Amino acid sequence: MEIKGALSWTAMDLKSIVRGLCCLWPVTFGLVACTMTESSASLAIVNARVWTGDTARPWADAIAVSGDTILAVGSSAEIRKLGASRVVDAKGGMVTPGFIDAHVHFVTGGFRLSSVQLRDARTPDEFVKRIREFAATVPAGTWITGGDWDHEQWGGRLPERSWIDSITPDHPVWVNRLDGHMALANSAALRAANVTSATRDVDGGAIVRGPGREPTGILKDNAQELVDRAVPEPPPVLQDRALDTAMTYVASNGVTSVHNMGTWSDLAIFQRGRAAGRLKTRIYAVVPLNTWEKLRDTVETRGKGDDWLRIGGLKGFVDGSLGSHTAAMIDPFTDAPNDRGLFVNTPEDLYQWTSGADKVGLQVIIHAIGDRAIRTLLDTYQRVARENGPRDRRFRMEHAQHIAPADIPRFGAAGVIASMQPYHAIDDGRWADKVIGPERAKGTYAFRSLIDSGATLAFGSDWFVAPPTPLEGIYAAVTRRTLDDRNPAGWVPEQKITVEEALRAYTVGASYASFEEARKGTLARGKLADLVLIDRDLTTIAPESIRDARITMTVVGGRVVFER
Ligand SMILES: [Zn+2]
Repeated sequence: MEIKGALSWTAMDLKSIVRGLCCLWPVTFGLVACTMTESSASLAIVNARVWTGDTARPWADAIAVSGDTILAVGSSAEIRKLGASRVVDAKGGMVTPGFIDAHVHFVTGGFRLSSVQLRDARTPDEFVKRIREFAATVPAGTWITGGDWDHEQWGGRLPERSWIDSITPDHPVWVNRLDGHMALANSAALRAANVTSATRDVDGGAIVRGPGREPTGILKDNAQELVDRAVPEPPPVLQDRALDTAMTYVASNGVTSVHNMGTWSDLAIFQRGRAAGRLKTRIYAVVPLNTWEKLRDTVETRGKGDDWLRIGGLKGFVDGSLGSHTAAMIDPFTDAPNDRGLFVNTPEDLYQWTSGADKVGLQVIIHAIGDRAIRTLLDTYQRVARENGPRDRRFRMEHAQHIAPADIPRFGAAGVIASMQPYHAIDDGRWADKVIGPERAKGTYAFRSLIDSGATLAFGSDWFVAPPTPLEGIYAAVTRRTLDDRNPAGWVPEQKITVEEALRAYTVGASYASFEEARKGTLARGKLADLVLIDRDLTTIAPESIRDARITMTVVGGRVVFER
């Protein structure tokens, strides 16, 4: 009766009264407690095309968030009634679950972004100025690395240490050219590395010298190792800055969670960020496969983490990459008839590590690119599954780029997740035919065939190797138009997938790939409030214009972490 009477009051009154009642009698007034939750929406987005990823209710118009959780998904009228403290009118834009990038190298990516930026320095003066300004922001003694300078910007004269010595007396500087084939050291760096006029040249490299054989500071190719090995691990202050930079950058691209293919030292950086409450990207921190015993012990004592930072995954490698002809192929490369690529680990080692890790309940995640590497890994996974018995293990194969047609159905049948990076397809597609020939290209980045044969796809970027931009990834998977625009109808067009299929791989599929589908990856009441607002509905625009779409807002755990 009281509740009925209350309906005639203003929403504001009702809210405060209900809150009061709830505090006093939370158990007795079950209905009231529910009403209170409904009325405490912190953020609502209305007039949107909400793609939920939830097959029971794929589309809605609006969504409301309470705290770090999704409160309701429904019509704009229903959601407006909740009286959220902030209501955003999407004006027909699209809302999707926050993108989960299932394959990144997050700390390295952050370092690249947060270090001195020299790529577009157009004059020697600008080059010097940027190094001077950056040096002023880091403690004395800190190495300054990265840079990606390009001396062609100012006519081709190589930089010298004399340009920067006077402005960096307390900082060793070791900045590379954008192609990584040469780098400039200042005098402090050369001293630390003990490179002098007496240092001999290195096979496959060169020390550029001036008068009196004095090094100018430029070291080429293998000679770079002379200084590389003197560079210490960056101090915590720079590691933290790299993490912050990475989180801010991916948030601007709609990414709310990442799976980091990294190291134990990456994990330590994430733990520091988690302890300080600084995380704004959720992280699944994967560590090297051959350290599975250490991970087993860590999980035993500390568990697998929480919604912000999780462990439990291990990353290994079967082979190398296509571009360097180190992908392991069944038949020789088309452009190198005596070469079938290589294994970077023996199949026996991979089997032992996988079996050991799987037995103790850890997830195994292995890189395989060539068709021979993929076949070997599928064999290993199936053998381990047979020997260790049934379990929800979710083996993952990273990249899975060039699959022999006979092996495609094995992913779905064996429950092996294909963790793929669609941007690589439109990048490699410019030259891959030359390396593997048109016949083998048919099983390349075989998104369509994998989905049709029942495989789960998890999409990601491989950042820093490729940009962490899901919208470009969706564009790539849907159009397969190579970056050089030479394949307007798509490279291997029969492997195109739809926008919704690509979205699913970046959300539902990727959440499944880290055992987190109960918490995120779809938009439904009770799930974590990780979501993205895009300025247009990707499913109704021309596929070619998907990459022109812009992220308008990124929300992680109910908090707006990016807004344009
Ligand atoms: Zn990678």
